Amino acid sequence: MIRKLIGRVFRLNKQQGGGRVVIPLKRHGISRDHLPTFALKTTDQLQAAGYEAYIVGGAVRDLLLGKDPKDFDVATNATPEEVHKVFRRSRIIGRRFKLVHVLFGDEVVEVSTFRGSGDAMTDDAGRIIRDNTWGSQEDDAKRRDFTVNALFYDPNREEIIDFHGGVADIEKKRMAMIGVPAVRYREDPVRMLRAVRLAAKLGLSIDPVTRKPIRELAELLENVPSSRLFDEMLKLLFSGHSWVCLMQLRDEGLHHGFFPLLDKMMAMPHGEAFLRTALENTDRRIREDKPVSAGYVFASLLWLEVLDNWDKRKAAGEKPMLALFSAIDEVEAVQEEKLAIPRRYGSTTKEIWALQPRFEHRSGIKPFRLLEHPRFRAGYDFLCLRAGSGEVEQELADWWTEFQAADGQKREAMLIRPQAGDPATKKRRRRRGPRGGAGVAVDNAQ
Ligand code: ATP
Ligand code: MG
Repeated sequence: MIRKLIGRVFRLNKQQGGGRVVIPLKRHGISRDHLPTFALKTTDQLQAAGYEAYIVGGAVRDLLLGKDPKDFDVATNATPEEVHKVFRRSRIIGRRFKLVHVLFGDEVVEVSTFRGSGDAMTDDAGRIIRDNTWGSQEDDAKRRDFTVNALFYDPNREEIIDFHGGVADIEKKRMAMIGVPAVRYREDPVRMLRAVRLAAKLGLSIDPVTRKPIRELAELLENVPSSRLFDEMLKLLFSGHSWVCLMQLRDEGLHHGFFPLLDKMMAMPHGEAFLRTALENTDRRIREDKPVSAGYVFASLLWLEVLDNWDKRKAAGEKPMLALFSAIDEVEAVQEEKLAIPRRYGSTTKEIWALQPRFEHRSGIKPFRLLEHPRFRAGYDFLCLRAGSGEVEQELADWWTEFQAADGQKREAMLIRPQAGDPATKKRRRRRGPRGGAGVAVDNAQ
């Protein structure tokens, strides 16, 4: 009786999963030469050593969608130690999940052994805390998140192996979770962020059954270690679709656990315009393959918080420059605690912020000094961003655009002469006092 029942449940699961479907080249169109040599060498050498080896996950999905994969992962039935023996230039990494990094010049291929989720240990909230058991290819497909992410490509046979209807979902531009969505989100709440990020990045729609539990389970993100959230944040910011992703995360109520300052910032004057201009700029640069510094992006994400904090301090009577530095320190502490942005990104961010008041000085020697500052360019770009969203006068940014391009004579002519009785003039006199001025503090802080 029990055996019969198990048999029925098992068959049902198999039907849901659809079993192992082999999709030939003429249906999917991905020939071997779509793949870079280093990826082919990895699967070829593993297969030559007698193992199964497939390109797996995001790369297969991206190829089917006609996009350039950003990295190539391989799945195999060889254990990490066996993989390591096949490739002289490789190393075993990871404690929780052992993986092998195979190196070809600057390129790294991540090779993982087929894994099951058979005896995964979960915590009280249902989150997986240990999962290091090897499994079959079918097990490996099942433990992945979305059907479109669970495809295996064999470059020698030029076949795709599909257990969950991922190829059909790609054709329908649909993201659907493998298994029961709520259970899979409880196992790993980051999957909720991945659903939204990948859908926005790839132009797929989230299947209603996969989308439905997200709002209700959003708070589970609070249990996720901040380092993982930070990894997701980086992926989102550098996806080339960061603005759309962030807005969709907000629509799903996922931003509370991910970027708690977002609501407050969007409600500020110029807040939405500023964030939108900043992120769309970054997105454009990424899509044009131009470099983007993480420090700059974080500077724009958090600037409104710095401004808000700075304004409050000034209103309470603190001196402007000292108030700015205290505001920066306070926001930095918040970013570390709430956003898990590691300190190593902080120095560029801080420099960009600290330069902003210096753009307001358009007389005497100061503008010339600022032009020579090693971070002038980043600071100026940031000023343009502020101007673009109406947070500072466009005229100020235009002045700096012209000043940079001008020759020496024209620059002199552009300087704005302080008027007698101008409060700025009085302030400057006071700053030249024996105890040094706030302007000096800026220089020291770089
Ligand atoms: P991206 O284009 O952002 O790299 P990706 O899908 O390749 O997207 P990776 O983080 O590189 O994302 O993961 C590789 C593969 O590992 C995924 O395609 C998916 O099959 C699996 N995977 C990643 N994260 C999870 C997760 N949280 N739960 C289940 N499977 C996951
Ligand atoms: Mg990937």
